[in-house]
Amino acid sequence: MNNHYDAIVIGAGPAGLTAGIYLSRARLNTLILNANTVGGQLVLTHEIANYPGVENISGYQLANIMKKQAKSFGCEIKSNIIIKDVDLNSEIKSVTLSDGKTYTADGIILTPGGRPRNLGVKGEDDLKGKGISYCATCDGDFFTGKEIIVVGGGNSALEEAVSLTKYATKVTIVHQFDNFQAFEHAVEEAKENPKISFIMESTIEGFHGDEKLRSVDVKNLRTGEVENIKTDGVFIFIGYLPNTEFLEGKVRLNQNKEVIVNADMSTNVKGVYAAGDSIAKRYRQVTTAVGDGTVASLALSNYLHEEKTKKRKMEEMNMKRLESLINTKEYS
Ligand SMILES: Cc1cc2nc3c(=O)[nH]c(=O)nc-3n(C[C@H](O)[C@H](O)[C@H](O)COP(=O)(O)OP(=O)(O)OC[C@H]3O[C@@H](n4cnc5c(N)ncnc54)[C@H](O)[C@@H]3O)c2cc1C
Repeated sequence: MNNHYDAIVIGAGPAGLTAGIYLSRARLNTLILNANTVGGQLVLTHEIANYPGVENISGYQLANIMKKQAKSFGCEIKSNIIIKDVDLNSEIKSVTLSDGKTYTADGIILTPGGRPRNLGVKGEDDLKGKGISYCATCDGDFFTGKEIIVVGGGNSALEEAVSLTKYATKVTIVHQFDNFQAFEHAVEEAKENPKISFIMESTIEGFHGDEKLRSVDVKNLRTGEVENIKTDGVFIFIGYLPNTEFLEGKVRLNQNKEVIVNADMSTNVKGVYAAGDSIAKRYRQVTTAVGDGTVASLALSNYLHEEKTKKRKMEEMNMKRLESLINTKEYS
């Protein structure tokens, strides 16, 4: 069949590229379809300092190594594509792109990842990775000895603010309400920390800087007053959005629109697996994405092997039945 593969992987972040490496290495004809630049959120990260075995590497470099590795095993990667439709429920899965081309496969791994929710204010896009971060585990260390701001009032914001005091000399939490939407113990821990201070009922209205973040405009939502505050860094924790819009109604999602998976990364649809940041899970890191991608690809390889074996046995049985029918007719 034209454009038919053993497996299609949707998304070329760390989870998808890992799946590509494992599937291709298992001699499965594999295609990765990716919406934009290969690497996903990795390419937003100027330095990855917590990926075991590799020191001082940029996200872009790490993504390129993963891409090269997948390709070396024969994995095909198509980037900058737009998916128009997916059919996951049929035995043969299909993905149709905006250019009208359709690719089919016996199994699919969904790794579309996600994106941190943005504040959506002036200067944010330009200063991402230059002082604005969405990941304390990833970037906290770069702010050692500096004064920073954390935006948000949920569990993530408060817990990450506390964890950032390991590095920063001062952490100011800016929150839009006069109370927090977090567990009592998280609020208490933040309030008891001498390095943390609070600016309540306020939001950031704009970021200023050139090569690096210099200051922010903080607006008091009660009085309307705007104050420009100098800062070395801003961490934004106001939620996370999985890139699963195209999967609604196709595969089971939870209330946060994350794909629900079993321990082997299988979804509720036969032959469809999911991995990485788009699945329902607590910790989102390159290492966890790579681990999920590994599990999903091994489980899919096993599924494809079992399906092939079932088909072959069925064909052998049918052949035997046919032969015995012919023999019976010949002797009657
Ligand atoms: C600023 C920042 C810094 C970070 N720093 C670190 C760090 O230092 N260490 C660490 O461990 N983690 C870090 N993380 C987290 C880490 O990058 C993610 O956990 C990881 O990239 C998730 O991998 P993934 O493959 O699941 O998804 P992603 O990396 O999000 O990749 C998903 C891919 O799928 C594509 N895609 C999405 N929708 C579609 C679609 N409909 N069709 C086709 N393709 C689609 C996307 O374009 C993307 O290429 C950071 C995250 C951010 C945002």
